[in-house]
Amino acid sequence: MDSREIIERTEKVVLHTYNRNPVVLKSGKGVYLEDADGKEYLDFGAGIAVFALGYGNREYNDALKDQIDQLIHTSNLYYNIPLMGAAEKLASHSGLSRVFFTNSGTEAIEGAIKAARKYAYLRDGTADHEIIAMRNSFHGRSIGSLSVTGNEHYQEPFRPLMGGVKFADFNDIDSIRSEVTDKTCAILMETVQGEGGIYPADPEFLKQVRALCDEKDILLILDEIQCGMGRTGSYFAYQQYGVRPDIMTSAKALGCGVPVGAFVLSEKVARSSLVPGDHGSTYGGNPLAARAVSTVFDLFEKQKIIDHVKEITPYFERKLDELTERYDFLEKRRGMGLMQGLVVRDRPVGGIVTGALNQGLIILTAGTNVLRLVPPLVITREDIDEMAVRLEKAFDA
Ligand SMILES: *Cc1c(COP(=O)(O)O)cnc(C)c1O
Repeated sequence: MDSREIIERTEKVVLHTYNRNPVVLKSGKGVYLEDADGKEYLDFGAGIAVFALGYGNREYNDALKDQIDQLIHTSNLYYNIPLMGAAEKLASHSGLSRVFFTNSGTEAIEGAIKAARKYAYLRDGTADHEIIAMRNSFHGRSIGSLSVTGNEHYQEPFRPLMGGVKFADFNDIDSIRSEVTDKTCAILMETVQGEGGIYPADPEFLKQVRALCDEKDILLILDEIQCGMGRTGSYFAYQQYGVRPDIMTSAKALGCGVPVGAFVLSEKVARSSLVPGDHGSTYGGNPLAARAVSTVFDLFEKQKIIDHVKEITPYFERKLDELTERYDFLEKRRGMGLMQGLVVRDRPVGGIVTGALNQGLIILTAGTNVLRLVPPLVITREDIDEMAVRLEKAFDA
């Protein structure tokens, strides 16, 4: 069956909520994907910052196959072996203490919101607390997550949304301060804004937010769904800021392709928030998902992924800076580690992404005018060189 037929048949039965590129991806090896017609693509999108280890990682695949043969699913009414390892590793690498596994990023945000509200409820004996979220943020598509996503366009048709949310400007501490009231229970932000256009938090800003939270017993929730799991050169981006959240959310690369997310609580929040009966999930952290998470952490250690990201980042940045210098329509580069954006002026970014695809290069957009590059974390200098060659061809076409 060729791509055209697959696309036609799919479009007849799948709800049209995505404007998909007319490419049918079929298999992957390392940082390359192959489509149903045999064309090869260098992947600098990684399934939206998911496939950190690259495609076809033998040990990862074998672990999953082994788990499939042992036990795919039970439920959270019982214990299972992979859950223990996955939670231990996520807790220790995040510097936090209690993990709840979800099936996606948006569910991790939902859980974080509930934990924060419950914490404040137990503290004050009243409900009706407020969360301060950031403009230009992205936290997911379910109603709770959408309610804290600072993007009017995503929210508008779905009102009324969850109440008790206020928005402030990212990287502007005064803007946050002016929204704080006695009812504020949490301040929520991405450590590096992803979908909004790749904006890292300013170090000083994040420290000030942390101090404000400490002063007023407000919980700091950092969304590390996209920027976490090694992407910026540390397990979680906040670790480079010397700041620790009270609640952290993870997903995307956490399972490297198996759908799984998590919210992780500090001991302080865990001790005084969600209790049995407050929250649950049929699948969340099931043996297959937990085995994926556990294996990802093992392979990150074994393959020294964090060291590799730190080592390769300057080269990646230099290549992108060279492109920015060469092309007038590239305004600047912005990002952290292997989460980089190229800001484009006077050209639609969608056209560039299509042009790159034609050259066999997968890249993404972010915001309205940013090219987003979030490759698998295992890329080499050669891959970066090849990316630059293909991107230049796309620019010149
Ligand atoms: C992708 C993303 C989400 C939502 O995750 P899903 O798994 O798509 O629900 C939330 N926050 C951030 C920062 C993301 O990048």
